[in-house]
Amino acid sequence: MGTKNTKNEPNQNLMKKLLALCVSLFCATLLMAQDTYLHCGKIIDTKSGKILSQKTIIVSGNTIKSVENGYVRPASSADVVIDLKSKVVMPGLIDMHVHIESETNPKAYLEKYTLNDADVAFRSVGFANVTLQAGFTTVRDLGGTGVNISLRNAIAQGRVDGPRIFTAGKALATTGGHADPTNGNRKEISGDPGPKEGVVNNVSDAKKAVRQRYKNGADVIKITATGGVLSVAKSGSNPQFTVDEIKVICETAKDYGMHVAAHAHGDEGMQRAIIGGVKTIEHGTLMSEETMELMKKHDAYLVPTITAGKEVAAKAKIEGYYPEIIVPKALAVGPKIQGTFAKAYKKGVGIAFGTDAGVFKHGLNGKEFGFMVEAGMPPMETIQSATVTNAKILGMENQLGQLKAGFLADIVAVDEDPTQNINTMENVTFVMKDGKIYKQ
Ligand SMILES: [Zn+2]
Repeated sequence: MGTKNTKNEPNQNLMKKLLALCVSLFCATLLMAQDTYLHCGKIIDTKSGKILSQKTIIVSGNTIKSVENGYVRPASSADVVIDLKSKVVMPGLIDMHVHIESETNPKAYLEKYTLNDADVAFRSVGFANVTLQAGFTTVRDLGGTGVNISLRNAIAQGRVDGPRIFTAGKALATTGGHADPTNGNRKEISGDPGPKEGVVNNVSDAKKAVRQRYKNGADVIKITATGGVLSVAKSGSNPQFTVDEIKVICETAKDYGMHVAAHAHGDEGMQRAIIGGVKTIEHGTLMSEETMELMKKHDAYLVPTITAGKEVAAKAKIEGYYPEIIVPKALAVGPKIQGTFAKAYKKGVGIAFGTDAGVFKHGLNGKEFGFMVEAGMPPMETIQSATVTNAKILGMENQLGQLKAGFLADIVAVDEDPTQNINTMENVTFVMKDGKIYKQ
């Protein structure tokens, strides 16, 4: 016993000294901690839809510490002041529909056979960066090869710059459906992809495919409820899943904390998706009034993607840009999207801002605001759609979409009042994500 005590006493003293040192170091760090004071001429309160004047947003670490009236002077000399007095400041924008690992180009269909994952990955870093620079601090990625999952992780770990990503990994399809990865291939290389590759043909496959996405690291499930424009297949609008398959997908996704997004151009496939329980309808091109009512009843949101519609219609007119089978679909579907959006908005369908960036050049996501306003949605509502509404769908309503104490410091600014000139949203001049400034 005695020997133990004499051995322990010096140890305990050492421990006490170490502890005291740690406490003083910690206190010193706290005193030194650098806060950022954003002096904002105007800020948008996305909750109330009001523009407020002369505010200071105090950012500490990756969080908004407080929002104060007037231009508050920093508490410590270590703090940083950013002058945004001439700007309109708002929460970081959220795009609910991008394809972050690819971008349209006339060789895209050939590149499916020539690019390795590493090639896709290097390109995706550039796409992520321009997206962030455009003020989109969060995106929902609705399908790629799986590189999107690695990209999400690399961004979250601070290895590369880009938006916060919620990704579907690989989209789910039925055989020959819009996201069947072997569509258009010759027999020897078309194979018979199954649920592992995201191709399902019954409820058992459907359940397995969702669980496989979870295992791969997806955050959300995307299904291709109808044919699509850019797949090498004849129909751009036929229904491609049964209600039972969609129901199982939505129920399984729910078990794993994921919601389901459904690509849909045709009305029948859209109705099946809504009845099956999906949260968002992407594009919604041929949506009937009956389906609009159904969406309201089931609390489903329309993700418009007007920019993509206009872009594919324009590109289809360039000879050889798309494979031949795609051209008539692009010309038929593309121009209709904005009109349907106008009707759905008027009918009171919930609108979740989303563009389908990748189908057009990344970084041009802000064009969607102007197209929404052109179709009758007031500018402030388009901004609320890209902030509070999208944050809620992502289950991030207590962290994203508002400039409020305790929220993540995702903050962007434009030079003009967007309620006067919505096109200013195409030119975001200040970007902060997670408390770090990426553009000033
Ligand atoms: Zn898409």
